[in-house]
Amino acid sequence: CGIVAYVGHRDACPIILKGLKRLEYRGYDSAGVALLTQGDLKVYKKKGKVADLEEYIGDQDTSSHIGIGHTRWATHGEPNDANAHPHYSSSKKIAIIHNGIIENYAALKTHLLNKGYEFHSDTDSEVFVNLIEDIRENNKVSLAEAVRLALHEVVGAYAIVVISHDSPTQLVAARKGSPLVIGVGQEEYFLASDATPIIEYTNEVVYLNDFEIAVIRDGKLDIRSKEDVVQTPYIQKLEMEL
Ligand code: GLU
Repeated sequence: CGIVAYVGHRDACPIILKGLKRLEYRGYDSAGVALLTQGDLKVYKKKGKVADLEEYIGDQDTSSHIGIGHTRWATHGEPNDANAHPHYSSSKKIAIIHNGIIENYAALKTHLLNKGYEFHSDTDSEVFVNLIEDIRENNKVSLAEAVRLALHEVVGAYAIVVISHDSPTQLVAARKGSPLVIGVGQEEYFLASDATPIIEYTNEVVYLNDFEIAVIRDGKLDIRSKEDVVQTPYIQKLEMEL
C-alpha cells in the first residue's frame, strides 16, 4: 500500500521509517524495510504498525545509505510476518517492495517452482522478484534490464522498487497503475507512493508514468520506457505546507 525508498548520503533507515509513518493514513497491516550495507542485504519486516517494526529492529545496526520500505495492505496471503514486504528473491540477492496486484502470478509461480525457485510467502509480489532474478540469470543482464524485461511478463498493477546486493548504489523502480513519485535532492533521491514523505527534504519531484522504469545509480536518475527508450524527466516544483 505504501512505498518509501532512499539513496544518498544520509542514513536511510530513519528516513524510510519516518516516511512510512507519513503514509500510515493510507491504511496497512504490516511494515518492513530492506537495507544494503557493504554488499549485505538485510530485511526486517513485521505484521502490525511501523512502531512494531521499530521495536522489532530495536538497537540492531541498521546504518546504510540505501534502502526500501513498505506498508502492506494484503491482497494475496494473510497479514503475517512472512507475507510482509520487502521480499527476497530465492538467492536472497534481490529485494522488492510492491504495491498492487500481479494477476498472472499463479502461472508465473508454477513456472518458477518447476525451475527450482523457493518461495517463503503466499504473496504475488514474491513471484515478481523471483521472475526478475530468473530473467537476470538466464540472460546475464543488468538488474535494470531484468526489471524491464520482467514488466513484459507481468499482468496487473504495480509500483515496485528493487535493490540488489551487488549494486550497492542502485535503486530500480517501475510503475503501472499504482503511483510512484521521485524526490530529487542534492545527490540524494527519495521514492514514495505520494509526496508526503519527500516534501521535508526536497520540493523537486518527478511523477513516474505508467510503463516507465527509473534507475537511480551513482547519484544519477535515468528514466526509460518499457521499450528501453530514454525519457526526459519532467521535474515539478511542489508547493506544499509541511
Ligand atoms: N499484492 C501485494 C501483497 O498482497 C501487495 C499489496 C499492497 O499493495 O500493499 O502483498
